[in-house]
Amino acid sequence: MNPGLVIIGSGLAGYTLAREWRKRDKTSALTVISRDQGGFYSKPMLSNALASGKAPAALVMKDAAAMASELNATVLAQCQVTHIDTAGQQLQLADGRTLPYRDLVLATGADPIRLPLAGEGAAAVRSVNDLEDYALFAAALKPGDTVAVLGAGLIGCEFANDLLALGCKPVVVDLATAPLGRLLPPEAGEWMRHRLEAAGISFRWGAAAQAVNRAAQGLAVVFDNGPPVEAQHVLSAVGLRPRVALAKAAGLNVNQGIVVNALLASSQEHVYALGDNAELAGRVLPYVMPLMHQARALAATLSGTPTEVVYPAMPVTVKTPACPAVVCPPPPGAAGQWEVRSTAQACEALFRTPAGALAGFAVLGAAVSQRQVLTAELAAANATVK
Ligand code: FAD
Repeated sequence: MNPGLVIIGSGLAGYTLAREWRKRDKTSALTVISRDQGGFYSKPMLSNALASGKAPAALVMKDAAAMASELNATVLAQCQVTHIDTAGQQLQLADGRTLPYRDLVLATGADPIRLPLAGEGAAAVRSVNDLEDYALFAAALKPGDTVAVLGAGLIGCEFANDLLALGCKPVVVDLATAPLGRLLPPEAGEWMRHRLEAAGISFRWGAAAQAVNRAAQGLAVVFDNGPPVEAQHVLSAVGLRPRVALAKAAGLNVNQGIVVNALLASSQEHVYALGDNAELAGRVLPYVMPLMHQARALAATLSGTPTEVVYPAMPVTVKTPACPAVVCPPPPGAAGQWEVRSTAQACEALFRTPAGALAGFAVLGAAVSQRQVLTAELAAANATVK
């Protein structure tokens, strides 16, 4: 029997690829392997699920059996791949089985970065990167709890805003001086900070967490300066690191992520990567829109039509209802500067090249209504550049 297509990972990247590929190939064998429960859910919902009032199990839109039936696939849930033999085109599974593949796709996602924290409470620091993490976190929370959130990036701010819905008191700590430091120019970050503070989120800026100790409230985050923050829970949201160990051990070319070309092919024949673990043209793009475009292109390639991934402008919606925001940062190293205009209700930041072309934007508050117009302008500017 032809071993067919094997996808490692049942996240948005793995299942979106499986769906796109099945549209093109109705009969070849397909296997999706996942070390988690294998159901289909939207990971971005994890940082606004408290407000939705949904129980963690209700976030699963289809369980593993339903996905297997929809995709006419074998879904191996709770099943870890421990080794890839690229020469023999087969996988080693943790339960001792081996599984052959014709083509293999690594959609293994990314791991949360863990700060090197000292202290007897450090092991109690949580991160939420999958449904299981979320279920444990949600079960531990009580209204009125203080939650120290490490990291004022997109995910840290979203969790902080969501915690308000449960009556918790979020205290967000960061080395920077304003939220979303990698996505917003400083004036826009300030604008956002005021809205989030007005909604009830506390911030502690310019502070590097050193240790988490046990304390009267439960835990105390200790910094290199200033007093500690006492909290019942500490949630770390300081970023993600592509999961590359499996690929590295198999001899694939790995940098920050698994290095792939525009066809999403790795350095080894018949092995591809997409989603949070893939590095294309020196960049890992850990968002939903890029992986959707990757999945469509890779599905075409894997069914016989080599197709390079091409990204349009891909704005990201920040799920902070206290300060709605849409960001589309300029490419790293782009020449140009930000122009920021704000009123009490709206803040618009436009990044323009020296020639005046739009290369990125961020819109906050009422200015999110400009999202489509600016995305279209960005797309037109990109088309002109090419
Ligand atoms: P994952 O969803 O991490 O899936 C990886 C899969 O690989 C899992 O099924 C895992 O079990 C499996 N796996 C890994 N190793 C093995 C192994 N050895 N054997 C078997 N299986 C293995 N992006 C946006 O664009 N907008 C948002 O609003 C947004 N919000 C977010 C909120 C949160 C809280 C988080 C954490 C992320 C958010 N993102 C958002 C990012 C977005 O969710 C991710 O880019 C996307 O979900 C990544 O999908 P993935 O399939 O690549 O990885």
